[in-house]
Amino acid sequence: MSDSATPYRGRFAPTPSGPLHFGSLVAALGSWMQARAAGGEWLVRMEDLDPPREMAGAADAILRSLEAHGLAWDGPVVYQSGRGEFYSTVFEELDRLGLLYGCACTRKEINEGMPRGAYGPVYSGRCRHGVPPGREPRALRVRVEGAELGFADPLQGWFSQHLEREVGDFVVRRADGLTAYQLAVVVDDAEQGVSEVVRGSDLLDSTPRQLYLQRVLGLPRPGYLHLPVATNRDGQKWSKQSHAPPLDDGAPTAALIAAWRFLGQPPFEADPREATPEAFLAWGAARWQCGRIPARLSIETALGAKL
Ligand code: GLU
Repeated sequence: MSDSATPYRGRFAPTPSGPLHFGSLVAALGSWMQARAAGGEWLVRMEDLDPPREMAGAADAILRSLEAHGLAWDGPVVYQSGRGEFYSTVFEELDRLGLLYGCACTRKEINEGMPRGAYGPVYSGRCRHGVPPGREPRALRVRVEGAELGFADPLQGWFSQHLEREVGDFVVRRADGLTAYQLAVVVDDAEQGVSEVVRGSDLLDSTPRQLYLQRVLGLPRPGYLHLPVATNRDGQKWSKQSHAPPLDDGAPTAALIAAWRFLGQPPFEADPREATPEAFLAWGAARWQCGRIPARLSIETALGAKL
């Protein structure tokens, strides 16, 4: 949590699975405003840990789009793909703490044979004491004994999970050998000194797992603010999968203003065509009020071809 002694440091951490769209602009703008309005820093971290989900050229396209929208970042962009060795040391640490174990279960076994909770299947702990005879460990899981973990989100209120009952031991290294998002995000936020994580509400239910990893690894806990996500008429989050149109880097101020309004901020009276994105952002940073953001998980938003 940031206090007056800790300089504010925020971040935007896109997965390069496609170009920036309205939904990701909301997260970028919300985190940028929180940082700039506090006189703090804003970092960009490319979460390129999952090559099967990535699109060639998307990381560069995202950075160009951020630049076109005037969303300047501090320091060099960090690429998670270059941090494998660092994550290995964290696996060693979890192992030393006796919290890591190999798991032989397949996705099918988990989906079909384990109880379902509000957040998906709850891992039963089947491989906790060793994999069944004749089976090979595939993924690495971290044990979560009886951990009830919660946090106060300034927008969404108190959110907690009983990890053992509602999630179960969770994967920190996937069967394909890739470091899982939950682990990478926690160690990188800590290593980069992030004081507040501002992101979409679709990640709200990941946060208790992240708090758990922080606790067992002895890492500082940042504040968390989960913004409403933009959804289509069917209630699906706008994303590459739901065919969100890419942002038009040629009309950045209009898109910024739409994201600004989505976040419940006061009207911008001037003609967007007359304002550079930088001028709009400077105007906005002086007026940003976190308390005006709608305290909702999602907001249905029609996306015209223009955005
Ligand atoms: N990389 C994640 C995404 O693009 C965001 C992770 C985070 O902000 O914690 O959805």
